Amino acid sequence: MKKMKAACLTKIPKEIEVREIPVPEIGENEFLVKMHACSLCYTDVKACVHGKHFYIELYGLPWTPGHEMAGEIAAVGDQVTGYSVGQRVAVAPFNPCLECPPCKLGAYRFCHKAPGSFVQPGGFAEYFKVPGEGAHLRTLVLPDSMSYEEAALVEPVASCLHAVRKAGVPQGSTAAVIGAGPMGLILMQLAKAEGAAKVFMVDVDDQRLEQALEFDADEVINSARENANQAIRLKTGFMGADVVFEAVGNAQTYLLALEMARGGGAVSLFGGLPGGSTVEIPSELLHYHELTITGTSSFSPDDYKNALELIEAGKIDVKRLISHRFDSLDGVLEAINLSLDKQGLKKVVLL
Ligand SMILES: [Zn+2]
Ligand SMILES: [Zn+2]
Repeated sequence: MKKMKAACLTKIPKEIEVREIPVPEIGENEFLVKMHACSLCYTDVKACVHGKHFYIELYGLPWTPGHEMAGEIAAVGDQVTGYSVGQRVAVAPFNPCLECPPCKLGAYRFCHKAPGSFVQPGGFAEYFKVPGEGAHLRTLVLPDSMSYEEAALVEPVASCLHAVRKAGVPQGSTAAVIGAGPMGLILMQLAKAEGAAKVFMVDVDDQRLEQALEFDADEVINSARENANQAIRLKTGFMGADVVFEAVGNAQTYLLALEMARGGGAVSLFGGLPGGSTVEIPSELLHYHELTITGTSSFSPDDYKNALELIEAGKIDVKRLISHRFDSLDGVLEAINLSLDKQGLKKVVLL
């Protein structure tokens, strides 16, 4: 049996080792991808620290993290159509069945079968296998101009695009993004691409805010030093932002997002809190302010495709988001530690 290297979470918290495991065997309707780029998502970081990930819950440890990946097709089962060995692809980590009631409604995130058909073993491995059924929904052939590292970042851009589209960013509007990490910076770029005339970035870290200005944020607010709600009102003629994105995942910033939105505005709750968390919200914000509040934690096949197109068209600069590149799977643990320390932006393993 052919062997390959894979980063494996063997124990909670954060015991990660690169192990030799069998290269996944593919069935007639599956194909094998040689990983060339996989970027680390904060969801992976949280899963490695707390062990809370549906895949760990389903199959236990060891678990291979990574779901933002791109690579080259290395083998194709006989029944797979539309793909061939040697194609460069970006692969989204979902596999909606398209037949269950949620899928029929387009709510792929809630597919009844999806968790069982996630890519295996995970992105931080030399190879992973992909189901052939419905492959066109999540496996995009890359344009020649797109590098593997850019292709790996199609996934986080798609997540942000889903949030931006669900909340709606009207032409000429004012947006605010709370959290100037990599996702916040993607949300900012997308809000502009969708029509925002001005985007405010809010964070508690001056370095991150300076970086946001380099990424073309119009104005920044340090919410540790000033009352961000008052600040945005002063800067918007006492209106508040038309749309606010919360990209932190914290009860205080959920509340701040609702406060910063103008009456009748929109709030996108993009950052996820730990399961079981509760958030206390004054009822007038929910009722009298007439806000449209949206939550997102996934994306659709269309979002994935459009995210790739936006990157290809140069509307979203993902290259600048990559702060750390590792040339071996040994880099996964360091990448996780850097993320826990809030160092840098996106970390990518390139093989
Ligand atoms: Zn992710
Ligand atoms: Zn389904």
